[in-house]
Parts: sequence; C-alpha cells; structure tokens
Amino acid sequence: MRVLVLSDIHANLAALERVLEDAAGAYDLVWCLGDIVGYGPEPDACVAAIRALNALCVVGNHDWAVLQRMDVDDFNPEARNAVIWTRDHISRDNLVWLGSLPDQPLTRGEFTLTHGSPRDPVWEYMLYPSTAQANFQHFTTRCCLVGHTHVPALHLLNPENPKVRTLALLPGQVLSLQNGWRAILNPGSVGQPRDNDPRAAYALLDTEKFTWEVRRVTYPVEVTQARMRAVGLPERLINRLAYGW
Ligand code: ZN
Repeated sequence: MRVLVLSDIHANLAALERVLEDAAGAYDLVWCLGDIVGYGPEPDACVAAIRALNALCVVGNHDWAVLQRMDVDDFNPEARNAVIWTRDHISRDNLVWLGSLPDQPLTRGEFTLTHGSPRDPVWEYMLYPSTAQANFQHFTTRCCLVGHTHVPALHLLNPENPKVRTLALLPGQVLSLQNGWRAILNPGSVGQPRDNDPRAAYALLDTEKFTWEVRRVTYPVEVTQARMRAVGLPERLINRLAYGW
C-alpha cells in the first residue's frame, strides 16, 4: 500500500492543496498525524479536505486545544490567540469530527501512528536522538510515524547496535528500511515548516517495501499570509511562514 503521510497542516489550505496536487497518483490512502487546525486561517476547509480523503487520523495538541480539552495557557500568546480564533470559526460538525479522533496511538500492520510520541502521544516532542531512543520501547511495530515538531526526521534502530541513529534525508531521497531495522519517521509539516525551509513537507510511505520519502513543495505562502491578515491572526504567525520557522 502506498500511503500519503501528512502532519501539522495547521489550517493552511494553500499548502495542503499544493501537497495534494504534487502527490496525486502516488498514493492509495492517507494517514494524518494531527494538528489539522490551529495557527492558520482555514480550519473548516482543511478539515473538510482531510475528511473527503477518508484519511486515518490521530488528534494533535492544537486540535485538542480547539476542542477545549486542555488549557490554552500552556500555549504561547500567538498560538493561544489562534486557538481562540479557530474556536469561533470552525463549524460544529467539523468540531465534532475532530473530537472523534483518537488521542492514543493507532496501529496499522507494522506501523504505529501518533502525533507527538508513542510514550506521550499528544505532547512529547521527538527532537533528539535520546528521546527517540527512549521511545523505541513504547511501541511494538517496526515503525512509528510522528509529527508535532514540524521538522522532517528519521531515527533508526539497528537490531545489532542498540544506539539510535538519526539521519537527515534530502527531499526526494528514498530510504529503504533494511531487514530487522526499526524506525521512527516524521514527515515534517504541511502548513508551518520549522526547519528554515518554507516549502510544505509531506511523505510517501510504501508499507510493503518499507520505503520512505519526504518531499517538499513550494506553495503560495503569500496567499495564506493574506488570508491570515484579513482575519486578524497574529503578525508573528504570518511572518514565520515566509522563512520556514
Ligand atoms: Zn503542530
């Protein structure tokens, strides 16, 4: 099965549309690792697009905040402002759908799907090899797919060497997971990349061949920025999209 793996769309419809165009024909189904909303100007359209794709989804921390399942005081002021704006601009029906998404990891074959980490599904940021190392004990499948950091990443565990290796793949490079190896894979963020590359990020996964490819695609950042400005979202959130942070 060829899977399109999306994460951290953050209500950025222009980015999501470009990703879907770019990936057209390259996948059979869609997995989404959470944070469909928050930060961006088009929560309803992004939720509708993901629902239309029949994507398998887990919930993210921003989705949770919009659902009022956590205190927004845990967020920085701009993120909090965007969460409150989103609550006022999302349909009841889409909110109910977001509320139906699981907050625990999902398993499909040899793959575990979660937003942050298998150890702390909604909250933990898997930014360092040491965090990945600890998390390999918290799932039993060969691979775990995570989002949340907004940075594409690849953590590998060789059965003959207990130390995790963290690699950076270039866009378009394809990883073939070797026999017996396990991996934690992060596709990066569709709607708010944070690795100094403003292009939208997504991944293609082949669940039989165990191949993984992160792709980057340019999208009209200025369209999303104009939509954010028109609805009065914070300037810092608007500016950061231009430099991918
Ligand atoms: Zn996020």
